[in-house]
Amino acid sequence: MTVRTRIAPSPTGFLHLGTARTALYSWAYARHHGGQFVLRIEDTDVARSTQDSVNQILKAMQWLGLGYDEGPIYQMERLARYRAVAEQLIASGHAYRCYCTPEELDAMREAQRARGEKTRYDGRWRPEPGKTLPTVPEGLPPVIRFKNPSDGDVSWNDLVKGPISISNTEIDDLIIVRPDGVPTYNFAVVVDDWDMKISHVFRGDEHINNTPWQINIFGALGAPLPRFGHHPIILGEDGLKLSKRRGAVSVTAYEEAGYLPEAMCNYLARLGWSHGDDELFTREQMVQWFDGSHLAKSPAQWDPAKLAWVNAHYLKLADDTRLAKLVQQQLATRGVVVMDLDHLARACALFKDRCNTTVELADWLQMYFAPVSPSAADIAAHVVEAAKPAIRALREQFTTLEWTKEAIAAAMKAALTAHGLKMPQLAPALRVLVCGRAQTPSIDAVLALFSRDRVLERLARV
Ligand code: GLU
Repeated sequence: MTVRTRIAPSPTGFLHLGTARTALYSWAYARHHGGQFVLRIEDTDVARSTQDSVNQILKAMQWLGLGYDEGPIYQMERLARYRAVAEQLIASGHAYRCYCTPEELDAMREAQRARGEKTRYDGRWRPEPGKTLPTVPEGLPPVIRFKNPSDGDVSWNDLVKGPISISNTEIDDLIIVRPDGVPTYNFAVVVDDWDMKISHVFRGDEHINNTPWQINIFGALGAPLPRFGHHPIILGEDGLKLSKRRGAVSVTAYEEAGYLPEAMCNYLARLGWSHGDDELFTREQMVQWFDGSHLAKSPAQWDPAKLAWVNAHYLKLADDTRLAKLVQQQLATRGVVVMDLDHLARACALFKDRCNTTVELADWLQMYFAPVSPSAADIAAHVVEAAKPAIRALREQFTTLEWTKEAIAAAMKAALTAHGLKMPQLAPALRVLVCGRAQTPSIDAVLALFSRDRVLERLARV
């Protein structure tokens, strides 16, 4: 059997972190088995689907590096196929037209509630041997309902949750095609998973209740059943469902906040799956290890501190020119234009070890390209009177110095000796004046990355 997986987002918003994790698992599972990964856009909710969401989803998938072998396939381009399959189900006695009006359905539910019963479709248009159906009303477009088996159980061995069984008596006759001819999710998903020969369906566990319907529809079509794996939801830091109200839930927000895609993938992978005690691993390792085992049954909690730690790890490993481009973009959003990428790359190399994100890196490196404004408190604390003569002399020397880290270090050392000072009396003052803050990496290296003129200008304040 060829392993074929898919991710099937609805374009009604950005790519949610939960969907991104499912996409990652589906992708890794297909890659692990040398199979294929398909991207399908489930856009049958016409009122809520937007092209903008599609674009965002595609962009987020690309950013995460989740390349798909087929797609994007749009459900709205397959309407004729769903209608044909619905007709096939009617012809084989597995589906039927229902002419209930919304008012009738409301009344039905109302009466059931009044009797203390569970609300469900009562089967009034469901054909049965010997049953007389109501008269077809004129001019009312029908829905098509799936004729669900009325007894027996629907069971499957979930790849994540283990054996699950639901009685057919719990399930009513689902609408599979709406009056306007557009299929509902549970029907389109089956036709697609069948047509696209999907062997393994990974998705969020909010779909567990849909799975029995889908399994029954597969059965009615005589289609081979995929394996299902339902992942638990991701919880926010407060233990409640991760949601927009509780912080960023879109992949794009994390890109903008300065996270690297390899860090996101690593972090998302561990959020619901484990390989021994491994916390940091490459995509290649994940693909090698991801065989569908060790998937967590219970919800994982989103942990921003851990994500920051993972990101810091990948920042250290990242190529400096790549980081420079990312920092360039971050700075551009602040109106700071940087042309010299080589320079920026050298600065990234010096600062990346102390940053969790490229936003933090941009916070540091902005001083090279835009004015700094040291606080009055920092100036009072660090630019002390005793240091000022040394700073002035050093500035004088800087005007003609060969502009290298070594020469700057030697000039500073000479200034300390000449003025009888110690490094802690001079370096913080230089930092505050030139960088706008009292702590930086080694000051000679930091200064060497400034243009001489900028340093002279900032030291002239003394
Ligand atoms: N469009 C569905 C969703 O976004 C897909 C569910 C599935 O994978 O079957 O939740």
